[in-house]
Amino acid sequence: MQALDYVAPNNVDEAISALADGGERARPLSGGTDLIAQLQEGRLGLDTIVDLKRIPELMAISVSSDSLTIGASVSCHTINANQSVRDAYPALIDSTHLIGGTQIQGRASLGGNLCNSSPAADSIPNLIAHNVTCHIAGPSGRRSVAVEDFCTAPGRNVLENGEFLVALEFPTPPANFGAAYLRFIPRNEMDIAVVGAGASVVLSDDKNTIQSGRVSLGAVAPTPLLVQEAGDALAGQPVSEETLARAAELAKDAARPISDMRGTIPQRKHLSAILTQRALRIAIDRARGTKTVDELGRLNGHG
Ligand SMILES: Cc1cc2nc3c(=O)[nH]c(=O)nc-3n(C[C@H](O)[C@H](O)[C@H](O)COP(=O)(O)OP(=O)(O)OC[C@H]3O[C@@H](n4cnc5c(N)ncnc54)[C@H](O)[C@@H]3O)c2cc1C
Repeated sequence: MQALDYVAPNNVDEAISALADGGERARPLSGGTDLIAQLQEGRLGLDTIVDLKRIPELMAISVSSDSLTIGASVSCHTINANQSVRDAYPALIDSTHLIGGTQIQGRASLGGNLCNSSPAADSIPNLIAHNVTCHIAGPSGRRSVAVEDFCTAPGRNVLENGEFLVALEFPTPPANFGAAYLRFIPRNEMDIAVVGAGASVVLSDDKNTIQSGRVSLGAVAPTPLLVQEAGDALAGQPVSEETLARAAELAKDAARPISDMRGTIPQRKHLSAILTQRALRIAIDRARGTKTVDELGRLNGHG
């Protein structure tokens, strides 16, 4: 591994300056579970890493009546340990609980998972299902981007030179909201998703009709996908296996996977439908108040 300058700014403005000073050969650092490995493998030619973890805004979890805001560098472990997040956003825990293992979760952040922009990243379908907004800072000021528009290609995203992700904002779930994330891996844990599916629903007051839904897929296209057609097909429909099967078929149609060592195109297409239908079932159970995070942890190969 080459020699690097390490900079640890104390606030957003200092981080912007440090990244500007370093130019294209500077990169932000959160937990380092992707970045350090990439540096060790010689995949990045960098001179400077800018550690964001001393910036209070990037390490904060804050809850208001409208939203939950999670600083980009907050570790999965910190999120998992926050009881109010666990209670209100159980689907988020689906992702943060299965990224790596306990040691990785002590460092790995949601911001790093998103900014690494792997098509198979386990948090991104879930962030899409939750309709998350990405807050970005850079030399031209602050801006916000819908999370489904953040990734642009494998390993690439909308961040311009000198910009970094400050926080992820989750709208407060409305009444009768439920969400879930499921992934398929060939082993029980510590592997890259062959397919991942995130889903969320808002049910009517009697909990028998889907008022709105969002479906997203990972590892089946160059970027994580929002499957708008599947969400549209759920809206206004009765909660039934037929409704879920129709949305699952639309997710399968939207998947544009490749064949590689982890799975084939037909297998990934098939899994896109299966996981979408299962994630929707769990989202509906949660909206009805009948599924816990621990039950789902077992479905995802943990617990
Ligand atoms: C053993 C092991 C198992 C793993 N298992 C999984 C898994 O099951 N699922 C999964 O999805 N991933 C997995 N990963 C990958 C990794 O742990 C996750 O992607 C993690 O969430 C990355 O977060 P981080 O804070 O460590 O990011 P870092 O490594 O610090 O950064 C990752 C990338 O994002 C950039 N970056 C970081 N923070 C910011 C910011 N605020 N603004 C702009 N750019 C930023 C960095 O420059 C870098 O390019 C695994 C990794 C290991 C080593």
